[in-house]
Amino acid sequence: MTSARWDCFDMTIEINETHDPSLQSWIESANDPATDFPLQNLPFGVFRRKQGVEPPRVGVAIGDRILDVARAHRYWDLGEAGAACDAPMLNPLMALGAPAWSEVRRALQSLLGTRGLMATAAREHADELLVPQDQAELRLPAQIGDYTDFYASVHHATNVGAMFRPDNPLLPNYKWVPIGYHGRASSIVVSGNPVRRPAGQRKAPDAAEPSFGPSRQLDYELELGAFVGPGNPLGESVPLADAESRIFGVCLVNDWSARDVQAWEYQPLGPFLAKNFATTIGPWVVTLEALAPFRAPVFRRAEGDPAPLPHLFDPSNETQGGLAVTLEVWLRSEAMRAAGTEAVRVSHGSFVDMYWTLAQMLAHHTSNGCNLRPGDLFASGTVSGATADSRGCLLELTRRGKEPLALPGGEQRGFLEDGDEVILAGWAERDGFRRVGLGRCAGRILPTGGAPQPGDGTPATSVRRVES
Ligand code: MN
Repeated sequence: MTSARWDCFDMTIEINETHDPSLQSWIESANDPATDFPLQNLPFGVFRRKQGVEPPRVGVAIGDRILDVARAHRYWDLGEAGAACDAPMLNPLMALGAPAWSEVRRALQSLLGTRGLMATAAREHADELLVPQDQAELRLPAQIGDYTDFYASVHHATNVGAMFRPDNPLLPNYKWVPIGYHGRASSIVVSGNPVRRPAGQRKAPDAAEPSFGPSRQLDYELELGAFVGPGNPLGESVPLADAESRIFGVCLVNDWSARDVQAWEYQPLGPFLAKNFATTIGPWVVTLEALAPFRAPVFRRAEGDPAPLPHLFDPSNETQGGLAVTLEVWLRSEAMRAAGTEAVRVSHGSFVDMYWTLAQMLAHHTSNGCNLRPGDLFASGTVSGATADSRGCLLELTRRGKEPLALPGGEQRGFLEDGDEVILAGWAERDGFRRVGLGRCAGRILPTGGAPQPGDGTPATSVRRVES
């Protein structure tokens, strides 16, 4: 619907004055070097004040606060994008496209920075415009029409393939085509929601027949998700050079996976009930403009790997299609929680290790004319690197449960137990720039069966920076 205005838009967002590391906010917590949400980040989300009856609304994270964007737009003209934020979801903002997102980023920086008249005036309205994050309930950032999950880490694909098909770990299509499957949008939940252990058909290798019951091999997958911006009309593909202009921003994604169900059901059509029972996403969507200082070259292909086909090749993608975002998994069991033990980090990887870039995923997704719409979500697939400590799921980390993780207090984990809480974190940093973060994506496992009860929600666990 808005594709015409994009035809001449150069995809690459440059580093500009909004990334100046010396910019400070009048909100002190935003100047803390450790915050995920400095003035240079300004990720979008949807929140509701816990007190009161106000419907959910668009907010921007700043330090330990949330700015109510639509309310700010009543006082100051935040442009077309400011008006689009008067909604309980980000879809209208996502539909506008990068010039409008850039414009509102600049306006919000003027409002929340320390320079200029707008900041002085905003300060006077601080009580009305800002909500402490601990007094807000964060919602799904968008109404997600469609959800696709890719499989873009060659390390993950090789490790998993070796377990499912020891003789044939990496299938011959892998280095030619960004592999993906259509996921389930209706079961995507935002961080903090509990996740029920799914029941399903699973068949042990030595069993004569499958049986039905609670999954015994419940796992997480550490992923990065991308929200689609303006999208593309049905029948019109998006060239790789334009692909990033269709991406609003990125968030954390946990693609919960029942490995025993998956192993039995996945051939010949791929994942189904092993994946669609829940996907948890982080509440904050970090724009590509905020990530401009953290771009990286595309994955360096091994000698002998094929060059990408023309629809997956673009010089700009080669030099800066990658994203230097660090991603982590933290785990806290019920026993650890009872003992007051903090979550432990079980793995950490980098998005630079992905074989395909987000732009290649989007271009490929539309290469047959498939239409993507504002608010659609696609996720990268498990982010795993070459080293053992960068494996982004338990299937890989514990070699399908054979080499369990040791947790503080003497527990062991091959796969997730009821009561386990999985917390994903992500951030980008580089000399000369402010660190920006993606926040947290947390979910706790409930036993199979029944509806969630009040109080089942994930307790707010602080992630202390201790390595396992
Ligand atoms: Mn996945």
